[in-house]
Amino acid sequence: MNQSVERITGNHLKDTYHRLINYLRISITDQCNLRCIYCTPKGPVEKLPHNEILRYEEILKIVRIGAGLGITKVRVTGGEPLVRKDCDDFLAKLAEIPGISDISLTTNGILLEKHLDHLRGIGIKRLNISLDTLDAGKYKRITGQDAFDRVWSAISKALQKGFSPIKINVVAMNGINDDELKALATLTLKYPLHVRFIEQMSYFDPDAGQSKALAEDDIKLIIAPLGELESCERNKKYGPASRYRLKGAEGEIGFISPVSHHFCKWCNRLRLTSDGCLRSCLLSDIVTDIKTPLRNGATDAELAAAIVEAVAKKPLEKSCSGTHTGSRMFSIGG
Ligand code: SAM
Repeated sequence: MNQSVERITGNHLKDTYHRLINYLRISITDQCNLRCIYCTPKGPVEKLPHNEILRYEEILKIVRIGAGLGITKVRVTGGEPLVRKDCDDFLAKLAEIPGISDISLTTNGILLEKHLDHLRGIGIKRLNISLDTLDAGKYKRITGQDAFDRVWSAISKALQKGFSPIKINVVAMNGINDDELKALATLTLKYPLHVRFIEQMSYFDPDAGQSKALAEDDIKLIIAPLGELESCERNKKYGPASRYRLKGAEGEIGFISPVSHHFCKWCNRLRLTSDGCLRSCLLSDIVTDIKTPLRNGATDAELAAAIVEAVAKKPLEKSCSGTHTGSRMFSIGG
């Protein structure tokens, strides 16, 4: 590796504000088998041309170089990662990269069940599964697919097979699932699930976003009848979620509150989009194109420099109020 990059980073990738960046989120596809109301714009969604999407070997090369710079943690997301062909093989190769000690998958769970044994076999234990409701009819209204039973079955099987932690991502929406937040939080009493309530960010429909938005404090009031929330440790290792536990609970309740609480100071993330851009902030449209140098034969040192450059562009903080029309959440992967 290039000496200057090594000196800049000393194998610890730090941004301008001294935050340690050790976490890469990779969106392996912009395609999804759901059209969630908060995530996908209405109307036709333009598909990226095939040759614009990074090939698996290109992604693996970037991860290898990132690992040399201090990336230790990787989350694979989408679109829906499990719709991409041959993702099992890709995940197995990812798991073999030296220095990557923590791999997790964010999925809507629809295709998950048949991948569970493979995931355990290659050492992936951490899953984030999106589930905003426990009602099959409402699931269809939120996502466009009649698939609640499949997702719940995959969650049950993942619990049986010892995946841990299994985080359930719930986007909290007034008038849509506010009446179920207590029931969703109650899951943590019975199962070792980490239920994480996410404040809705408005990407393409500011009216929908604002009228439906429920803030962390609103959610806490709704679930207050379940009892006191005991605070769990929060540190840079755990990223932006604030974490709690109901007395005697098997699992945890978390809040990801990009709208009401700035969590930028905890941010340790860099994102790689499926079309080959490094994005140092979910809420900023400043990106670093790494696909072009990669395809033009850049050396590993030059690609490492591109990663360092992307990290250097990470803003100190970014507000989530208002609409971020440029950001395509459904393809960046959260
Ligand atoms: N298909 C996968 C899934 O469903 O988990 C991964 C991609 S999805 C975009 C990743 C996460 O982003 C999901 O947990 C989803 O709840 C969250 N998300 C999507 N749109 C959001 C929005 N407008 N506000 C807050 N969270 C959002």
